[in-house]
Amino acid sequence: MFAEVIVDISHSEADKIFEYSFEDCRIVSGSRVLVPFGGKTIEGIVIKTKLNCDFDEKKIKPITSLLEETPAMTAETLALSEFIVKTCYVSRALALRQFLPVEMRKGRVKEQFIRFAEIADGADFDEVLSLLRKTAQKQRDLLLFLQENGKTPLAELNAEFGGAVKALVDKGALKITALKRLRSPYKDLEGGAKRVVLTEKQQLAVESIEKSDKLTTLLFGVTGSGKTEVYLDLIDKTLKQGKTAIMLVPEISLTPQMLKQLRARFGENAAILHSGLSAGERYDEWWRLRTGEAHIAIGARSAVFAPVENLGLIIVDEEHDGSYTSESAPRYNTAEIAEFRSRFNNAKLVLGSATPSVESFLKAKNGEYNLFELPDRINKKPLPDIEIADMRKEVRRGNNTPFSSILKDELEKCLESGNQAILFLNQRGYSKTVVCTECGHVQKCSSCDVSLTYHKEDDSLLCHYCGAKYKMITACTECGSPYIKYGGFGTEKIVYDLKKLFPSARILRMDRDTTQTKEGHFKILNEFSERKADILVGTQMIAKGHDFPFVTLVGILDADMSLHFSDYRSAERTFQLITQVAGRSGRAGKAGKVVLQTYQPENHVLRQAINYDYNGFFEREISVRKATAFPPFTKIVRVLVQSENDELAMNTVKELYAELGEIRRSNESCFKFFGCMKAPLKKLQGKYRYQILMRIDNGNEDITDRIFAAVNVKNRGKINAYMEINPNNLT
Ligand code: ADP
Ligand code: ZN
Ligand code: ZN
Repeated sequence: MFAEVIVDISHSEADKIFEYSFEDCRIVSGSRVLVPFGGKTIEGIVIKTKLNCDFDEKKIKPITSLLEETPAMTAETLALSEFIVKTCYVSRALALRQFLPVEMRKGRVKEQFIRFAEIADGADFDEVLSLLRKTAQKQRDLLLFLQENGKTPLAELNAEFGGAVKALVDKGALKITALKRLRSPYKDLEGGAKRVVLTEKQQLAVESIEKSDKLTTLLFGVTGSGKTEVYLDLIDKTLKQGKTAIMLVPEISLTPQMLKQLRARFGENAAILHSGLSAGERYDEWWRLRTGEAHIAIGARSAVFAPVENLGLIIVDEEHDGSYTSESAPRYNTAEIAEFRSRFNNAKLVLGSATPSVESFLKAKNGEYNLFELPDRINKKPLPDIEIADMRKEVRRGNNTPFSSILKDELEKCLESGNQAILFLNQRGYSKTVVCTECGHVQKCSSCDVSLTYHKEDDSLLCHYCGAKYKMITACTECGSPYIKYGGFGTEKIVYDLKKLFPSARILRMDRDTTQTKEGHFKILNEFSERKADILVGTQMIAKGHDFPFVTLVGILDADMSLHFSDYRSAERTFQLITQVAGRSGRAGKAGKVVLQTYQPENHVLRQAINYDYNGFFEREISVRKATAFPPFTKIVRVLVQSENDELAMNTVKELYAELGEIRRSNESCFKFFGCMKAPLKKLQGKYRYQILMRIDNGNEDITDRIFAAVNVKNRGKINAYMEINPNNLT
């Protein structure tokens, strides 16, 4: 027999299909194998087996060995990897890697075995006991313990009975067995078991999704409308049909209650895939899904590649979230991958959000998706009132603190009544910038074109783009002046000021600095939900999906922050963020309140957000996008050229611009925009960055194929060049 194999080398020279021979009948398409390649033995995936080969049979080498009996890839995931190669422009090896836990490649994780001891089958209990010397009390105790408790992990016995264990093993009285241990993470997540009866509206949502002739449903439900319960019910029904489900959340470490609910309801039937797990846990969870031991895969973006068969349902919660677009190769869009799997399996796809992406809502309105709305919170609890605090007035009044007087009053009331508050600011650190008052010089990172953020805790200046850390300055590095001032607030400063304002309040901070460890998020969120703190200050980590019943006040400290970006989606992002953060308030019995601080109180996006007017926002936004030919009416194609050598980067981008200009000339009408410029972030990690920006009519894959080919030729040596389609981040 012969096999077509893709070897696990991602550079383009090896991006071909190689043929090998084999006799082992366990080898099938999807198997992981070892093959001889260029004098070495490397891993590969069999994508096809056949009786005849297309080459001189004598030159074909045999497969060295089969790695696992269960093929790692299925017919579906093999087809999906082809789709990724075509749509994301990556090598076959890189596409295949998305489907395998890193730990599986190169045999990095060994399966763990756990050893148990029990009384040996042949051993006569009373005889052994009578033979023991009177002084061997420990051994007696151990025997009695095992008689009562049966098989027990050896480690526990060793800890309890010490040398007695070995003594009895030597006498042949104990039997040792080893069992494979599957490391299941978050076993001890408790609570969340409260079972609810679906409301009539939730019931209708489930029915609408099930009965729709469309595979994809957009579940548009306001914050607190009970979308999670709808998901759980759908998963339950899917399992009852003998099918599997995938549930995606924006970032799993941020949504412990989702995890709690899934664990409480489905127990070990749910497997969790995410990067916060240990290597062993990840590996084991993956295999539990692959072998069909677990039927539900839960995770962030990459869990869309879960190795489940017989898929019946995919849920993408908070579908508008930016984390669903991958920012490194393969640059895939999770919804597109999910749609592929949904079509392949005839499985239902549910996109859920309180603020759907403009793109998805347009598809729902056009009838491409089924649309179901949950316009009210559970039990008709009102959405919290959002009050605008005009920061221009505050400044005029001489208030230079980060807190408006409205917010201060509300905080006071909230604390007095024993409730909790959340303060949101999407900027970590103490001050955003450090500026010389004499010459105006702003301290910058030496390898990036960005200003440094001051972190008071370790008295350092940090680059938030490359992570470089500098000592805090005592004098301006340009003019030597000792007069340095801080520009802009960060979460660290907010906590600092809050402590002065409310000395007895217990305050927690959640941002990237306080959540470095694997359990960091859980710890903070747990403490807050157990009411061990009164105020939670955080970056957008705290915006996502949390359900804290005692929060009655949310403060949005700088609502304008994301409006300043020149990105075409900044209005959309601002609307989403405000709605999400506001949605954390007043979720249980108590009425909630939101204070939104802004320097542009008349801004239409803010106005629509405070009125929860998604439809108004959508209508306006979509007409702007249409008039200006932006997505979803076109696609943005960006080519980035980076190099440590500025001149080389500039010359390369100019050459490329001329070459792409040829492509444009033969397709003039499809191009809505075509320009070459410095990237907004001119320098990053020591590399100078230039870009060619294009907006092209949707479809037109032949054009993007040609652009990719031209860019790929340049991507070598000291030049890093790549193409992105509708990137999430345009810096
Ligand atoms: P969403 O995901 O839409 O923001 P959740 O699913 O978190 O909303 O639900 C909000 C709150 O309402 C949760 O505390 C949840 O337990 C509760 N809830 C949801 N459905 C019901 C129901 N049918 N009966 C009672 N409480 C419910
Ligand atoms: Zn200076
Ligand atoms: Zn830097």
